[in-house]
Amino acid sequence: MKNRISTLCLTVVLLCLVTTKSMAQETVPFVEDLLQKMTLEEKIGQLNLPGAGDVVTGQAQNSDIAKKIEEGKVGGLLNLTSVEKIREVQKIAVEKSRLKIPLLFGLDVIHGYKTTFPIPLGLSTSWDMPLIEKTARVAAQEASADGINWTFSPMVDISRDPRWGRVSEGNGEDPYLGSAIAKAMVRGYQGDDLTKNNTIMACVKHFALYGASEAGRDYNTVDMSRIRMYNEYLPPYKAAIDAGVGTVMASFNEIDGIPATGNKWLLTDLLRKQWGFEGFVVTDYTGINEMVAHGMGDLQTSSALALNAGVDMDMVGEGLLNTLPKSLEEGKVTMEQIDNAVRRILKAKYDLGLFDDPYKYCEVKRAKKEVYTKENRDFAREVATQSMVLLKNKNQLLPLKRTGTIALVGPLANTSENMAGTWSVSTEQSKSIALLEGIKEVAGKKVDILYAKGSNLTYDPELEARATMFGKSLNRDNRSDAELLKEALEVAHKADVIVAALGEAAEFSGESSSRTNIEIPQVQKDLLNALLKTGKPVVLVLFTGRPLVLKEESKTVPAILNVWFPGSEAGLAISDVLFGDVNPSGKLTATFPQNVGQVPIFYNHKNTGRPLKNKEGKFEKFTSNYIDERNEPVYPFGYGLSYTTFTYENLKLSSDTMREGDTLTVSVDVANTGDYDGKEVVQLYIRDLVGSVTRPVKELKGFQKVALKKGETKTVSFNLTIDDLKFYNYDLDFVAEPGDFEVFVGGDSSTEQKLGFTLK
Ligand code: BGC
Repeated sequence: MKNRISTLCLTVVLLCLVTTKSMAQETVPFVEDLLQKMTLEEKIGQLNLPGAGDVVTGQAQNSDIAKKIEEGKVGGLLNLTSVEKIREVQKIAVEKSRLKIPLLFGLDVIHGYKTTFPIPLGLSTSWDMPLIEKTARVAAQEASADGINWTFSPMVDISRDPRWGRVSEGNGEDPYLGSAIAKAMVRGYQGDDLTKNNTIMACVKHFALYGASEAGRDYNTVDMSRIRMYNEYLPPYKAAIDAGVGTVMASFNEIDGIPATGNKWLLTDLLRKQWGFEGFVVTDYTGINEMVAHGMGDLQTSSALALNAGVDMDMVGEGLLNTLPKSLEEGKVTMEQIDNAVRRILKAKYDLGLFDDPYKYCEVKRAKKEVYTKENRDFAREVATQSMVLLKNKNQLLPLKRTGTIALVGPLANTSENMAGTWSVSTEQSKSIALLEGIKEVAGKKVDILYAKGSNLTYDPELEARATMFGKSLNRDNRSDAELLKEALEVAHKADVIVAALGEAAEFSGESSSRTNIEIPQVQKDLLNALLKTGKPVVLVLFTGRPLVLKEESKTVPAILNVWFPGSEAGLAISDVLFGDVNPSGKLTATFPQNVGQVPIFYNHKNTGRPLKNKEGKFEKFTSNYIDERNEPVYPFGYGLSYTTFTYENLKLSSDTMREGDTLTVSVDVANTGDYDGKEVVQLYIRDLVGSVTRPVKELKGFQKVALKKGETKTVSFNLTIDDLKFYNYDLDFVAEPGDFEVFVGGDSSTEQKLGFTLK
């Protein structure tokens, strides 16, 4: 009997362990010991991530937050910067709180820390994974030197809607490319060893589908089929999980009628059970509190919903801190759930090595040596040149010659504050290099640079104020529009060539900066047209955080260089490209529409039952098109020019059939046929011609950025396996279906060069 009881006990213990393990994954004895010692209050404290508030160096002890930390009511802090302050605050946690648990210090290190790289959309247009990984590495190096151990990046939300301001923060519209970038960023931040003092924990966001908000309005409802989610929107998040990302941020939007923050299917069934995520989930800023407005119940109900769904940490709102004790008492949440959340957060701190050395990121000397170094800034300059996309270059107007007079005109020409773009919270904006400064330096002595602002950002001063927040003012000029224009034309008339620096200001895109009109603001268009009328050659240097409608400019302006927001070294990098010291090689990762009415527009769409038949894009009655506009965009996904030209010949497949286990090699000869050395992003797309569910007309399945000397030809090869042909079917099984496929290779997604093969 005794034996049976002990066997039973053992079974129960084992079962408990198995259950705990299946939810909390790998258990760490150190964490388990600590958990045993914690009071309920201390446990719930670990789930709390308040904003740092006003912590003043040397006075941290007296701050409001200090008291909470001492009481064990804080697991981490958001937005505290500078190593001195972080050290002081960490000291409170590890010396004054009962259990001495170190804090996490989280910040939005999005595209660099102090040294700032192009906005993420711009980084994505480099199509250069090692380069992107290195930007995250450098960002981690700098942030970790300054006390930060956790970044809220990468943002991997697929978006097909340029009205949404946050397209600037993502990697464009494609799940394959988005997945590659997600992996590169996670590797860059976390490195191969989180216990090192120069790696930090990454946080993939915003989980999930945030980029599909209705009408591109920020925080708006999302509604989509599971099959679309799985095939088109979820892959980059999954790629980040597969790359070992430490944390996940729940998004603001709802999914299937339940906000992501309270969505158990999303945060537990999919994320943990299907994908095997073992880290912790943090809400977005006040995500739990916002469930009240979503209509999910009061703060207590919403907080319990979040914990039950799989949220571990509550950003800013303190819903968990203030309501969980009551919910536990009332049986609305369980102790096991609370323990699991605490366990995951402690595990993250353990993985970061904070229990061994809570000050490992707090060496004051390191910050002075490793942040915003010449080396990092030179790298930022290089990266920026790689992100620029040459959209048009009629008669080889670019590169510019280093002689004569250049008129630099436009509201974006002389603004350091706007060069880093949106979500650059730790940049010292005024130190970024404006185009006027950069062009003077790079042009050399033989070129005269004349400058005029030409116009304000917008006719409407209130709109300009909203698009230039957070210290990114364009110093709105009090002169009348006519006076500004007159000055610009005087300057233009004296020049051999006009460089017009136009487009959006940094905060015209980004969070809560959705637009219904995605054209260059009218006042700037009027300026541009007046400049064009002078008859002088005009180069448009376009600043933007989103795909813009460039229908008119694509016809009227001879040369357009899209520079996004290039970061700290903007002015130098733009000039490097303008003068041809660097040949542009960026390619779009999001479609540029003809007009906002085409949105959402993306290359990997379905064929429909009534596709347009003519290739010229002419209107056809009773087929899927518009009566007033063609279907094609102005610039497709994957598009971008170079100062040289490339041709693609000899497309070959190693076989016209594939079986499971086979590798099919696709090769093509790419030749540099122009006058400059250059780089080309060779892109491979497939089309699955017949499926059990409809399949996109093209899907990116490979890309390589190849350097080709003038006159050089290289054979570029891709390997395709059955995994590249797989997709989620109606039952959401990931399968490849036998049948015919087409494979396309070319320099952008409109390529027609193709061959066919059959999957047996
Ligand atoms: C944004 C997140 C960001 C968080 C913390 C939120 O408003 O949606 O992307 O990480 O703030 O700053």
